[in-house]
Amino acid sequence: MAGEAQADCLFCKIVAGEVPATVVRETATTVAFRDINPQAPSHVLVIPKAHYPDAASLAAAEPVIAADVLREAGEIAQEDKVDGTGYRIVFNTGAGAGQTVFHAHAHVLGGRGLNWPPG
Ligand code: 5GP
Repeated sequence: MAGEAQADCLFCKIVAGEVPATVVRETATTVAFRDINPQAPSHVLVIPKAHYPDAASLAAAEPVIAADVLREAGEIAQEDKVDGTGYRIVFNTGAGAGQTVFHAHAHVLGGRGLNWPPG
């Protein structure tokens, strides 16, 4: 069923506490944890607890939870004190765009200059 945990999903395992992560925030619907391979001084992933393969499918099925993810991204930027200098929220969608984990997640990146367009 849509949104149910998937046995072979790394981020579902993080939600379940089966894979360790440095969790920085948790709500009823979301978990945020530090990226294991940070691309900026502050690099946090915000995920819905429910399993959806990407941000668009999450937003289509659960728009309130998609909004929760965005709100949490903003809270993290404030807590990591990168909101003043600017930060980026990224949803890689599809392998061709660099998505490697097919459980919706927002990258929240800040603490350095961020070029545009991204690579
Ligand atoms: P994607 O490439 O799908 O947009 O982003 C997946 C992110 O998950 C990558 O930035 C990668 O470094 C991160 N990642 C992969 N495995 C783990 C893990 O086991 N723990 C944590 N904290 N991050 C992970």
